[in-house]
Amino acid sequence: MYFTYEQPEFDKNDPGEIRRVIREAYENGREAAFLGRVADYIPELAKADGGDFGICVKNMAGDNISFGETEKRFSIQSISKVINLAASLKFLGFRETFSHVKMEPSGDAFNSILKLDLASDLPYNPMINAGAIQVMSMLSNFMDFDDLISFAKAFCMDDSIVLNEEVYCSERDTGDRNRAIAYLLRSKGVLQGDPDKTLDLYFRMCSLNVNAESLANMSLLIANNGTNPFTGKHVIHPGYIRTIRSLMYTCGLYDESGEYGVLVGIPSKSGVGGGITASVKDRCGIGTYGPALNEKGNSAGGIAALQHISHLLQLNSFC
Ligand code: GLN
Repeated sequence: MYFTYEQPEFDKNDPGEIRRVIREAYENGREAAFLGRVADYIPELAKADGGDFGICVKNMAGDNISFGETEKRFSIQSISKVINLAASLKFLGFRETFSHVKMEPSGDAFNSILKLDLASDLPYNPMINAGAIQVMSMLSNFMDFDDLISFAKAFCMDDSIVLNEEVYCSERDTGDRNRAIAYLLRSKGVLQGDPDKTLDLYFRMCSLNVNAESLANMSLLIANNGTNPFTGKHVIHPGYIRTIRSLMYTCGLYDESGEYGVLVGIPSKSGVGGGITASVKDRCGIGTYGPALNEKGNSAGGIAALQHISHLLQLNSFC
């Protein structure tokens, strides 16, 4: 971690300078990747190459600055929680969504069960497993996997998204902790319906194959208030974007959200597949891929790169 109040001295809007900063961020990210390790609690994820790193930054005009492994596909994992939340807001509405899940940072690991049992019946927020499983149980009454993947394609502006069968099977076969969460929620009368159907959809959405560019696209759509800037298609009402951005900011990196908020300060969401998506309002979307994770389960390279870009281009929301 580094921190400095020094202000960079260059024109932050000069395209050449922007490119230079993104290249430096890429180099920092690739170096930081050596400090992390790939997830192995889902056996298929252990096959990733921890040395991989890529970054894609895209603006509303479609200018795309990419370095490294930005085309390689990997599983979206927890970043799908943003898509699930967006679908829930769009199809069920704000009131219904948040009558079954709270909007508080949990301060605990993404797969924690502790506070869910001891301190609260409702899951803390939709960005951790318990909250996302609850959101999925509500969605499963209205949407099947075909509906959800179509929505994911529109949300990520990426028609090439498909299910990664190997990751899906690996996750399904080892997902006992998520099963425990779903059944605990049902025992509390919070999760309605069939926990296994809910979990199947949850595992499938975590196993969508994306790349750094899909993640940049997704954040670009959020940065553009829910409208695809290239086609003009309204994917989600702008009124819901505030909720999505706020929850990404406060909860998007699990129990590292506070520190990340100070050091990077861009609404973001991470996944154990190695992705991070970061949305800079009215400006651009950033997607990173670096499967070597830190101890909180967030991409070590992605955080280093985003910290560099945010500081030098002054993208922190509170600047
Ligand atoms: N599919 C993963 C799980 O449920 C998602 C976790 C993550 O990306 N942090 O454990």
